[in-house]
Amino acid sequence: MNAAIQAIAACGDLVKAFNPEQGYSSPWSLCLHQILTRLRDSSLGVSKADVKRMQSSLPDDLKTPNKQQDVEELLSTLLTEDHPSFMGKTEKTTRCAGCRRNSTIEATFKIHGLPVNNDAWQSFSVEDALHRQCEAEYLEGVNKYQCEECPIRQDALQTFIFTSLPRFWFICLNRFNYDREQGTAYKVMTPVSTPEFMEFKEESFRLIAVIVHVGLTANSGHYMTYFNDADCCLQNPKWFLADDKDVKEVKPEILQELLAGLVSINQTPYVLLYKKISNSI
Ligand SMILES: [Zn+2]
Repeated sequence: MNAAIQAIAACGDLVKAFNPEQGYSSPWSLCLHQILTRLRDSSLGVSKADVKRMQSSLPDDLKTPNKQQDVEELLSTLLTEDHPSFMGKTEKTTRCAGCRRNSTIEATFKIHGLPVNNDAWQSFSVEDALHRQCEAEYLEGVNKYQCEECPIRQDALQTFIFTSLPRFWFICLNRFNYDREQGTAYKVMTPVSTPEFMEFKEESFRLIAVIVHVGLTANSGHYMTYFNDADCCLQNPKWFLADDKDVKEVKPEILQELLAGLVSINQTPYVLLYKKISNSI
């Protein structure tokens, strides 16, 4: 719970998007907005009663107090309202090699899932992973495509593009995979560097927060949030680490490790928050 809320609280403009007076009206929005506002104002603490009240308004499967929740699932619930600030759009087109027909599926996202492969031994960046995701893919062999027009499965060419990128872009590095042969979930430890500034599709983004997963397995661990104060201090923002209620400033060498994609042997970036800056410079 805390890691997801700390990531949202990192950005004042994003907190404004949760204001119930601006139309954000989920059952937990009033409590959430109160907590976010208090976190933004460091002189005000967040009371246990606030957090409890908000927890009690969440869907049943997310309010089990002692259960370690997946932070991406929780964040997705908190971002329930389809607010344009954090909503992006994608398009996947499949061209059937048999009948040459194109089939396009449009989708929206609030948290964009980015695959992290186990076979990538060399570290790569989130930009590399995004570009890789947008490369055309041939569907053949066991991956042949079931076209609506053709009687049998066909080879096909699949392309994926972003048609709209949100102002506040949440990216989840999909590290938790399932091994069908073993019947177990496992965590992919491949480092993914997360640059402070990222260019993608002629837009510029600045890294605001990183939720890290601490742990070596998919079924256990702990979440913490690194965030900066780039909102108030554009030139040389400070970075902080929020671990439940403890917040401390991050040393430069730890920040370098974070941006390189692996803070310690078991601490890996999991959910990133980038803010679009190209229109505001
Ligand atoms: Zn076809």
